[in-house]
Amino acid sequence: LGPTITVGEILVEIMATTVGAGFLEPQSLTGPYPSGAPAIFIDQVARMGGAAGIIAAVGNDDFGRLNVDRLRQDGVDVSAIAIHEDWPTGSAFVRYRPNGARDFVFNIARSAAGQVGLTSAAEALVRRAGHVHVMGTALTIPGAREVILYAVETVQARGGSVSLDPNLRKELLTDDGALDSFNQVLATADLLLPSGEELFTAAGSTDETAAVAKLLESGIGEIVLKRGEQGASFFGLGLPRIDCAAFAVDEVDPTGAGDCFGAAYLTCRRKGMEPDAALLHANAAGARNVTRLGPMEGVSTLAELAAFIAATPRR
Ligand code: ADP
Repeated sequence: LGPTITVGEILVEIMATTVGAGFLEPQSLTGPYPSGAPAIFIDQVARMGGAAGIIAAVGNDDFGRLNVDRLRQDGVDVSAIAIHEDWPTGSAFVRYRPNGARDFVFNIARSAAGQVGLTSAAEALVRRAGHVHVMGTALTIPGAREVILYAVETVQARGGSVSLDPNLRKELLTDDGALDSFNQVLATADLLLPSGEELFTAAGSTDETAAVAKLLESGIGEIVLKRGEQGASFFGLGLPRIDCAAFAVDEVDPTGAGDCFGAAYLTCRRKGMEPDAALLHANAAGARNVTRLGPMEGVSTLAELAAFIAATPRR
C-alpha cells in the first residue's frame, strides 16, 4: 500500500566503554554512532528490502551527516529529514550498570530533534505511506507528537496500518502530552510491541494473561512481547500464543535490539509471512543486533537473518 514510515528523534549515541562507571568523572567513551529509536527501526526496515521513510530533523553538522548518510545508503527515504542551521543534531550518552540496566543523558528537546514538525516534505511522505510505526520516545517531543497523530489518522483513513512500540523512557517524560498521545495511538494500533513491564503499563494490569486479553479485546490485532534473552511471544485475538526462544549469542551492546526486532517483525508481516515465521526473524534481528557495539551497527538483511537462523542454536 505504500512505505512504512516513522517519526522522531535522530541522534548520535556516545557510550561508556566500561560497565559501572557513572558520568560524574572522566572516563573513556566510544562513538559517535548513528542512533535514535525511530532511526534504528527504519534503517532495519530498509535493510530488509522494505520501502521505508522517516520524518525527522538534524543539524547542519557532522553528527547529522553521519546519520543521514547511513540512512540514505541503507535505502531509507530521507526526503523528510529537515536540516536545521540553528540547532545541533541531538545526542544520547549511555552508561551501563552492573545489573545490565542502562542510564541515558539525552539531548533531544534542545536539539534539532526537538524541532520535528509537519514540513511539506513530511506531508508528502505521509500521503504516500501505507504503515506508520510509532515510537514512544518520539511522543515526548511535542512537534513530533503532532506529526505522529496526523500521520496515524491520515494513513488509517486510506486503509493503512499502525504499530506502536511503547518505549517511553523515564528520562524523557516531562509532560502529560506524551501519555495522552500514547493512549490515543494505543486505542487505534494494529500491532503493539512492548518489552517487559511496558505491557503492564499499556494495559493497566500486572497479570500477563489479563493484560494481553484486555489489549486484544480493545481492538489491537497483534501483540508481540519482547523478553530480552528470554526471547519473545506472539498473541492474537482467538489465535494460539506462540513462544520463541532467544538465539544463543554473546551480548555486546543491548541498545537497538528492540527496534531491530520490531522492524523485522513488521517487515516480515508486511511481506506476507505468518506470525510464527515473522517472530523467528524478529528474534534473529534482535539477537544479531546485540552482538555489535553501536545501536545501528547490527542491522540485518533478510539473507543475513536466514543464514543466522540456520546456523545459530537457541537458548
Ligand atoms: P528492548 O530493546 O525493546 O528492551 P529486548 O531487550 O527485549 O527489547 O530485545 C528485543 C529482542 O531482541 C528480544 O525479544 C530478543 O529476541 C532479542 N534479544 C535481546 N537481547 C538478547 C540477547 N542477549 N540474546 C539473544 N537475543 C536477544
